[in-house]
Amino acid sequence: MNLIDCSLVELRKKILNKEVSIKEVSQFYLDRSQKLNPKLNAWITLNTEILKQAETLDQKISRQEISENEKLLGLPLGIKDMFCTKGLRTTAASKMLHNFIPPYDSEVVARLKKAGALVLGKLNQDEFAMGSSNETSFFGPSYNPWKMDCVPGGSSGGSASAMAARLCSATLGTDTGGSIRQPSHFCGIVGIKPTYGRISRYGIVSFASSLDQAGPMTATVEDAALMLEVMCGKDEKDQTTSSQSVPLWSSQLNPSLKGKKIGILKEYSNDKGLSSDVQKTMDSVYDYLKKEGADLIEVSVPMTQQGVPMYYLIASSEASSNLARYDGVRYGHRSNFETLQGVELDEFYSKTRGEGFGQEVKTRIMLGTFCLSSGYYEAYYKKASQVRRLLRDQFIQAFQACDAIVSPVATSAAFKLGHRINNPLEMYLNDIFTVSANLAGLPAMSVPFALTQEGLPIGVQVMATHFNEQTLLDVGFAIEKGSSLKGRYAHVE
Ligand code: GLN
Repeated sequence: MNLIDCSLVELRKKILNKEVSIKEVSQFYLDRSQKLNPKLNAWITLNTEILKQAETLDQKISRQEISENEKLLGLPLGIKDMFCTKGLRTTAASKMLHNFIPPYDSEVVARLKKAGALVLGKLNQDEFAMGSSNETSFFGPSYNPWKMDCVPGGSSGGSASAMAARLCSATLGTDTGGSIRQPSHFCGIVGIKPTYGRISRYGIVSFASSLDQAGPMTATVEDAALMLEVMCGKDEKDQTTSSQSVPLWSSQLNPSLKGKKIGILKEYSNDKGLSSDVQKTMDSVYDYLKKEGADLIEVSVPMTQQGVPMYYLIASSEASSNLARYDGVRYGHRSNFETLQGVELDEFYSKTRGEGFGQEVKTRIMLGTFCLSSGYYEAYYKKASQVRRLLRDQFIQAFQACDAIVSPVATSAAFKLGHRINNPLEMYLNDIFTVSANLAGLPAMSVPFALTQEGLPIGVQVMATHFNEQTLLDVGFAIEKGSSLKGRYAHVE
């Protein structure tokens, strides 16, 4: 078996059985990344130290100094550029942070390293994770390896592109309103946003704190389950993390659908402008689920219809507050000395922030600042928070009748570069199926299922109740079994 055909779990076995050294694996992905990145623009920064780090781990193996906790020993990962990595540039794909080298690791990266994983590099994304196509990145768009004139999705577009082209063994994304699931759907990989509070946000560049969650983007469901085991768990440095125990998900995956109740959301089935490709795929997924013994039932969560406006209001408000820290004083971009000569403080800020942020980020800061301003706060942010609570309650109610909810991830397969970037409303409506899971804090995933005639992947979204990642993964695992895309990758040369 060629290295490129190996899942994370298979690669791990090969390393432990000494069929391949960690240095060989790292060299393989490094060469492939260096060769293909000029085409894909998936990496912003590559870690040039990786081969040295790989050698050190190989020596550990030969001295038999490996502990059981090193579940990801020697596996080269790609990290979205939202996660702080000690000594390795972290930009959030913004000019504002284009030269920021963090003095510490985010908690997630620290846990992955502790489990033996290697960081191959930092991945492209939309600026500050705001976008659905990777086109708002200061470093230029990344491309969909299945079809190079299409977007890879966003905001974790580089993570999806790199994974689909197998530039590394697994990647990390963040998901505030769909940024793990939508690019996973566009690029034919598995992507999971766990329950809010499962994974520490410490050291992740903040976008909208009450919605942001990190998660794995991988070749298979089993790989994603293994990554989650390492990433999840209480962290004293993030008080929103939960102390719920972290099960060994990857070793207890169960694909049986017999007697499982699968909910189909009534509100999502009404005309939502689904493309015929997505509609066809969903029809075959429903047939497959029934054939495997699941009970399909209709459930209703009326508030999902308000999902997009609710999300853009809350996300922009929190972003405007979180991004206030980029003032050019403490760190990040500062306008050059000559332009700042003799200016007042206000002008210092506006020059620095005007230069450092891109168009989409500025739009959201203005929108959010307006929604939080006195006189409007009650009518907007507060009202949206109340409606959000109702949405959550309605989901909890719906899950009394079913084990999981299955739906499309987005209205279409990957769209062409440049086609939506000048129409924000159309771009925002793309998130219609994904934002609700973030607003309600629910775990959700995208599993690849089929290819369109043009050769673009289509994924399926699964949602489960809070902290019920096992059911989520089991249903995803079952869908993967019936998928024509399992383990397939995009061939780019
Ligand atoms: N596309 C959504 C947005 O632009 C979601 C982004 C995300 O999940 N980070 O805000």
